[in-house]
Amino acid sequence: MSDRTRIRRIPEKAVTDVATLYAVLDAARVAHVAFVHDGGCVNIPVASARDGDRLLLHGSTGSRLFRTLADGAEACVTVTLLDGMVLARSAFESSMHYRSAMIFGRPTEVEDKLVALEAMSEAWMPGRWATLRAPHARELAATMVLELALDEWSVKVSDGDPDDPPEDLDEPVWAGVLPMVATFGDPLPAPDLRGDPPLPDYLADWRIGIVS
Ligand SMILES: Cc1cc2nc3c(=O)[nH]c(=O)nc-3n(C[C@H](O)[C@H](O)[C@H](O)COP(=O)(O)OP(=O)(O)OC[C@H]3O[C@@H](n4cnc5c(N)ncnc54)[C@H](O)[C@@H]3O)c2cc1C
Repeated sequence: MSDRTRIRRIPEKAVTDVATLYAVLDAARVAHVAFVHDGGCVNIPVASARDGDRLLLHGSTGSRLFRTLADGAEACVTVTLLDGMVLARSAFESSMHYRSAMIFGRPTEVEDKLVALEAMSEAWMPGRWATLRAPHARELAATMVLELALDEWSVKVSDGDPDDPPEDLDEPVWAGVLPMVATFGDPLPAPDLRGDPPLPDYLADWRIGIVS
């Protein structure tokens, strides 16, 4: 933890064990990357994947985001999971269950691009990489992969019941928590699917946003 990652606002929601950071990053799959460009702030959502103690991001070599970061810009990366609605007896006390992470650092280009791409694919689509053709050289050349060391980070977790003041407890409205879970729907075959390949078995195991 650094001074800038010390949670000041409601510090009891701070979680400092790295296992929780990893769980949040693994469940999220999307990160918002903030950086300064041309003197103004920018915040771009991209797919993200954790590989050990680094967060991987990939994109076009022509992307402003990736070119700016590869040139050494500092990033502030946030990841957010929404876990539920907290319905209190007043709008003021109503809130959300969430897990969020913030990571500061200067992403750098990976040296092991193919290894990193496989790690990203397996994080998002476990079991699929080995069944796909190898990337073409032109695809690799067009793709930049950045890694952000998980060195300077914070995690904030909001959970628990509505926290109504005693004078509101007799309000005649239902109060409680409505949990939220993100998951996949039924597979929709591509209209141009050829050769009748079977639905992959691994799809049965895929879940998103669920951390036990
Ligand atoms: C889904 C969701 C909804 C939220 N809704 C609101 C809202 O409506 N209004 C509101 O005021 N706040 C909301 N928050 C909390 C918000 O993210 C901030 O934590 C809060 O506003 C305090 O900001 P601050 O700059 O004063 O934090 P400070 O505590 O001063 O921030 C200091 C450091 O703490 C860490 N930190 C702060 N917030 C987070 C975070 N969320 N996750 C991880 N690390 C963090 C960072 O490292 C930061 O540099 C929400 C959070 C989430 C995830």
